[in-house]
Amino acid sequence: MTAPTESGVRTLDLHFQDTPGVIAASVLDTGDGLAVVDVGPGSTLGALEAGLAGLGASLADVRHLLLTHIHLDHAGAAGTILDRVPEARAYVHERGAAHLSRPERLLASAGQIYGEHMDRLWGEMRPVPPDRLTVLAGGETLRLGRLEVLPLYTPGHAVHHLAYHVGDDLFVGDVGGIRLSERQTPRAPTPPPDIDLPAWRASVVRLRELDAQTLHLAHFGPHPTSAAHWDGLLASLETDAGRVRDGLGRGQDAAELTDTFTRALLDELRAEDPTLPARYEFACPPWMSVQGLVRYWQRAAARGSA
Ligand SMILES: [Zn+2]
Repeated sequence: MTAPTESGVRTLDLHFQDTPGVIAASVLDTGDGLAVVDVGPGSTLGALEAGLAGLGASLADVRHLLLTHIHLDHAGAAGTILDRVPEARAYVHERGAAHLSRPERLLASAGQIYGEHMDRLWGEMRPVPPDRLTVLAGGETLRLGRLEVLPLYTPGHAVHHLAYHVGDDLFVGDVGGIRLSERQTPRAPTPPPDIDLPAWRASVVRLRELDAQTLHLAHFGPHPTSAAHWDGLLASLETDAGRVRDGLGRGQDAAELTDTFTRALLDELRAEDPTLPARYEFACPPWMSVQGLVRYWQRAAARGSA
């Protein structure tokens, strides 16, 4: 657990795969129960409970699950938490709601990627009953206890991605990038299937205009708002996307693309902080970023907009 921000937000380290500093959950006291932004996967529910216990609270005190998007590393534990806490609700973008209530397809496509490692990595993902969901489009004002929570539609990483603005704090899920230490340039996690570069850039424009002191990243934790954060994210998004586009242009196959991309990315991270490469692979494996960008460029070419 890190120290609370001035506004009282606590960051819980979910110790994903026994690795610190990879997946975070953020906890806010609404004055009427707790709100948790991104509850993490089923496999780290024990760590979430231990983190809450460290705050003198428990799962039973949670009332609001503010999900930035439905990927397993952010929302996997939501159904289990709602089963165990009848008073709690989850909040999700309208384009993700159906997959949360019927996660079969989400789990089937994850199963194709992770195979026998599914359970060890992600644990159980239980369906969320539709009547326990508040479905959002972005642009609403939520009053949770004494907090005013503003969900913002921020696609690019996922077509159903939301950020949440609460006073001085801005919870940016994955659209704010991966930044595992202050020294690291933010990098864009670009897994399949929804990567959309123009949408991502537009989301960054919206987010950086907001008046907030602290950015909260799922990977990982609070960072002071700065132009350098957003500029670094946009620059690395262009670099990563350009590497995949150029590799495709040279006729590289998937294995070659992945190999060159991974080597370049891990070298750059290592130069910023030697501990980064090992942790980064748990936050978003580079091969998955390659897959997402290949899919993006292939669809762009099919639309004639590459
Ligand atoms: Zn993520």
